[in-house]
Amino acid sequence: MKIYPKCDEMFNGINILKPYIEKYKGVEIQFISYECINMAYDIIKKYKEQIQVIEEITVHLPLVDEFNFETLAFAKLDKEKERIKVLTKVAKDFNIRVNLIYHTLWNFDTWCYSGAIDRMKELLNLIQNTNVYILIENIYSAIEPIGCWVFNVAKVINNKHLKVCFDTCHLHCQANLFKIPFDIFMGKYLNKEECQKYIHQIHFSGVLNNDGFIDIKKTHGKVHNSFESLRDDYNYLEIFGIEDKIIVPEVSEDDYSTRKDQIEEIEMLMKKEK
Ligand SMILES: [Zn+2]
Repeated sequence: MKIYPKCDEMFNGINILKPYIEKYKGVEIQFISYECINMAYDIIKKYKEQIQVIEEITVHLPLVDEFNFETLAFAKLDKEKERIKVLTKVAKDFNIRVNLIYHTLWNFDTWCYSGAIDRMKELLNLIQNTNVYILIENIYSAIEPIGCWVFNVAKVINNKHLKVCFDTCHLHCQANLFKIPFDIFMGKYLNKEECQKYIHQIHFSGVLNNDGFIDIKKTHGKVHNSFESLRDDYNYLEIFGIEDKIIVPEVSEDDYSTRKDQIEEIEMLMKKEK
């Protein structure tokens, strides 16, 4: 099992997470500043200086719709190219792998007819033969039960620098919104072979709601409330053969100051491994 803790651009909680980052040699950084294109270089550099064994860093853009792929690619494609260039430079200068995550709300049809696929290809052209990768993450959508099936996008583009960040919390939200029992939802919308081929990492957390109500502060992306509930979610990773992918415990994002919940989640995962 490979677990990358999640920290933020302010280095909150880094001291207590340091042993885990050193053990697994990777970290995901949540950016909160809107002007995070150039500052990404300095922040990644500082992480690498503080924890020299880091081999891989994932960049998560601010958690608002303005940072979804579709918004950035259509309103600010040139700025995205700049972002990619900054990440390419930092990956090269410090000899690390850098992943950039984009959320997307669009479904596959919209990706195709809008030209989003071509815009993604333009970005991917900039990172061939580099150590930079783009990950597209499934988020929940109230538009249709399937939402954007990011695997279709990855499959049709078929580029080894484009992978999927698979979010288990968003899957629960999606199933809850449409009142589909979770095992039926998973069986219908996931394909084991595609999961194994395209997923690079997993955002893993508990979802403390069963009625489709999503509250970022109370129910969304929380530490699993028992070892049993963590084990139930982890079992799905085994069913789809993806338990060997990188796991990022994406919990308690409303408070990066202590990271206590995240340590609890990491410890439960480590217990599961034993
Ligand atoms: Zn996520």
